[in-house]
Amino acid sequence: MLAILHPNTALDSDAYRQTLDFLENLPGVSIRVHEIQGASQRLTEIYLLGDTKSLDKEEIEALPAVERAVRISEDYRILGRHKDDLRQSGFTYNGVEFSQNNLNIFAGLCAVDVPEHVEMMMQALEQHGEVCTRMGAYKPRTNPYSFQGHGKGCLPWVFEKAGKHGIKVVAMEITHESHIEEIDTCLEKLGRPTGVMLQVGTRNTQNFELLKAIGRQSTYPVLLKRGFGITLNESLNAAEYLASEGNANVIFCLRGMKTEAGQPHRNMVDFAHVPAVKRLTRMPVCVDPSHSVGSREKSPDGILDVMHATAQGVIAGANMVLVDFHPKPEKALVDGPQALLMNELSAYLEDIRLCHDTWKKRQGIYQRLTENSDI
Ligand code: PEP
Ligand code: MN
Repeated sequence: MLAILHPNTALDSDAYRQTLDFLENLPGVSIRVHEIQGASQRLTEIYLLGDTKSLDKEEIEALPAVERAVRISEDYRILGRHKDDLRQSGFTYNGVEFSQNNLNIFAGLCAVDVPEHVEMMMQALEQHGEVCTRMGAYKPRTNPYSFQGHGKGCLPWVFEKAGKHGIKVVAMEITHESHIEEIDTCLEKLGRPTGVMLQVGTRNTQNFELLKAIGRQSTYPVLLKRGFGITLNESLNAAEYLASEGNANVIFCLRGMKTEAGQPHRNMVDFAHVPAVKRLTRMPVCVDPSHSVGSREKSPDGILDVMHATAQGVIAGANMVLVDFHPKPEKALVDGPQALLMNELSAYLEDIRLCHDTWKKRQGIYQRLTENSDI
């Protein structure tokens, strides 16, 4: 069971102490306190774990600090949606809102290469009013002899440039827990010119020790990629690892599944799962059309497969798009062949906005249907 306290309940108040005292003394039940700092209020949730079947919901709701109690199922206790669970989704980080209702675009370089390309990318984003980007510094590569990313060495100039161009959030994959500290130390030294969203790649979705380490910090939100060869349930449990360690600011990213059946695409595009993840959990959902499609193939309608896949995700309600761009793809050190070009940015952003608006309108037509059938 989950006890949701009244917003902004002071932890030194009598109401809180009495509530905690009661809950701590329930036989066979252990408690876990979870704090959520929203833009305007702080929310405290107390998870009651163990033998909770016999607990009386109304008795818990009568405790002085409790606003309401929710019976939660075993799966995805923190990030999941439970029966009668109307809790909001999402969070605000560095002034940018992430929720199941809005949309943020993270266009950028798959891998950081030279300052000139990072500069060109960020400048273009600034010109288009975009405040998020993707920049790979630590690259997990199939071949040990392939370029592994510039790592720690490029962080200072990447973050400085981000600050200069008004970028508020940089999605950056990390492959080892020591990278959290490298990023944090660098940002701190520079006076935090930008923010970072820690990305867990598909190859690390079930690296439980990495997930636990990332979950133990709550300075940085997390973008968790779906594992490309495991079930959706297994990937959602991986996200829950982060939350169970204390960090529930998690975005779930669909990026295609590895199977021959996906050909001619690099992976089988799985964006029909956008609404499924939103129904099962409270996480905002991201789509990565670049790593799903993996090429710049174009259909006879003049639209690239990457753009079509993006549209499919966004029209189904995706809340974030993570996409590879490069000013000179032929010079890119990783994934050049799938990168979109700078002169495609305007049209691509317009297409995404159109699809997001259409998703909103689609909700409207089905809402009317429900209202009419209520009469
Ligand atoms: C990436 O986004 O750069 C990446 C390596 O993605 P994935 O983990 O989905 O392969
Ligand atoms: Mn890539």
